[in-house]
Amino acid sequence: MAKPPSTDFIRVIITKDLQANKHDGRVATRFPPEPNGYLHIGHAKSICLNFGIAADYKGTCNLRFDDTDPSGESIEYVDAIKADVRWLGFEWNDREFFASDYFEQLYQYALQLIKAGKAYICSLSPDEIREHRGTLTEPGKESPYRNRSAEESLDLFERMRAGEFADGAHVLRARIDMASPNLNMRDPVLYRIKKVPHYRTGDQWCIYPMYDFAHCLSDAIEGITHSLCTLEFENNRPLYDWILDELKTPCHPQQIEFARLNLSYTVMSKRMLADLVGKGLVSGWSDPRMPTLAGMRRRGYTPDAIRTFCERIGVAKNDSVVDMELLEHCVRDDLNEHAPRAMAVLRPLKVIIDNYPADKTEEFDAPNHPQDPGMGSRKIPFSRELYIEQDDFLEDAPKKFFRLAPGREVRLRYAYFIKCEQVIKDKKTGEITEIHCTYDPETRGGYAPDNRKVKATIHWVSAPLCQEAEVRLYDRLFTVANPGAEAEKAGTEFTAFVNPDSLETLTSCKVEPGLAQAAPGSRYQFERLGYFCVDPVDSSEDSLLFNRIVTLRDTWAKMQEKDGK
Ligand code: ATP
Ligand code: MG
Repeated sequence: MAKPPSTDFIRVIITKDLQANKHDGRVATRFPPEPNGYLHIGHAKSICLNFGIAADYKGTCNLRFDDTDPSGESIEYVDAIKADVRWLGFEWNDREFFASDYFEQLYQYALQLIKAGKAYICSLSPDEIREHRGTLTEPGKESPYRNRSAEESLDLFERMRAGEFADGAHVLRARIDMASPNLNMRDPVLYRIKKVPHYRTGDQWCIYPMYDFAHCLSDAIEGITHSLCTLEFENNRPLYDWILDELKTPCHPQQIEFARLNLSYTVMSKRMLADLVGKGLVSGWSDPRMPTLAGMRRRGYTPDAIRTFCERIGVAKNDSVVDMELLEHCVRDDLNEHAPRAMAVLRPLKVIIDNYPADKTEEFDAPNHPQDPGMGSRKIPFSRELYIEQDDFLEDAPKKFFRLAPGREVRLRYAYFIKCEQVIKDKKTGEITEIHCTYDPETRGGYAPDNRKVKATIHWVSAPLCQEAEVRLYDRLFTVANPGAEAEKAGTEFTAFVNPDSLETLTSCKVEPGLAQAAPGSRYQFERLGYFCVDPVDSSEDSLLFNRIVTLRDTWAKMQEKDGK
């Protein structure tokens, strides 16, 4: 199916710009992550937008590492970000840039501003600068250093670079307007001293540019035409434009803000994600419960599903929270089409078919996909002893329970009808240990020649001919839809809302023998249970381990049906 062309408000602007031949008809975007953490699903929205626009308009999209704050940045994050962008399906070819490569150029730009009387060295302490800043209702107070001569500022700035001063002793500030209603325009800090080595430039620098100074200039240096960022930067736009105007850069990109993605039942700030990792509340950045791309990849989400999700949520100008159900719906939709089917029993209950010969096995043919014969079929072994799911059997079954119960008959998927004859319990605990059944040999393949109907079809595996596996079931990482806001309300840490039951490990699962060879990362629909993926990290030849990607139940689709959408 051909995709309808996206017509979000940003594409509308770009189309108009092209018609007016703005930027000589070029479209150049960039995705600018700071390498201080792993990418999350919010970043995926920005990646799909920036790379998607470049593709739609035959333009370019740069991958730029916005690495101007050395604390917390590392090459590990650079590599992880690159792997994630590629996995999501985007390629930047040789368009890989680092803001840290512009440090000298940015420094020269700063000198230029000082010389033009547009920036000065301020020697107030960070606290004093904050106090002078004023509030939304009160104008700021001018710094006593505001009228420092360009010569003095130049001299101090050079000495700051040379490492003569301690952190916080001086900063470079733009000379704009301390009474501006926009706090960002009240002589913002452009450079600070930070005696921290940088993962790329080592100790070559001890002054680093602030985001507002580095970002617009990096965009201009790279010839970006449309600089897309999230809404919270709306009030930074006048500063973005002021810096480029004052420096008369040959290229002046247009900053356009869009709503960031917020997703229910998770958090999306790198600081919070780093907190979860640091406190050991998850196994790492790629824990399958994390909203990171690395976590989702390990969990078994497909890049196609994530791209579809990003398309479905669209790009708008007002902040909102997207329901986690929509993301899961997109994952389910994609897997339903592409994941081969298999049978697996997560909580096994032994079934013995008394009238089936003990030494006999036979094989049943099962299609790998009910709607796609092209996906082929496989053989499933059947024997006297089987496993079924514990909750497919009830000893004292109410009328509405259609699965197996004493005296009742069900269909074993692809195999035979069986009828429960006897329940064996542990004498001490009373726990059901096995159930005895009879099978009807006339129902081979799952259909009775007399057209007799059964009310349920259940899945099963052969007891002697199955593969043992461990299965990890994941639930929401948080117990509340918006952990950040709830924590603020309650005056607690957001980590107080981590769901203690977000991981359940089942260690004695039984799966079809064919799955013993399943490659790490491969995905299946376990019939009647959900979608599962061979864990690419902890699964091994000796111990097969599956992650539950998502359940089969699709409340999102049901909600849409109800709403008539
Ligand atoms: P965080 O708040 O998680 O630290 P960030 O914005 O500081 O995120 P960056 O690495 O600077 O992280 O982000 C790179 C790009 O991704 C930026 O252009 C940013 O606007 C965009 N981005 C980050 N989070 C989201 C989000 N939730 N939705 C959409 N875009 C996002
Ligand atoms: Mg940032």
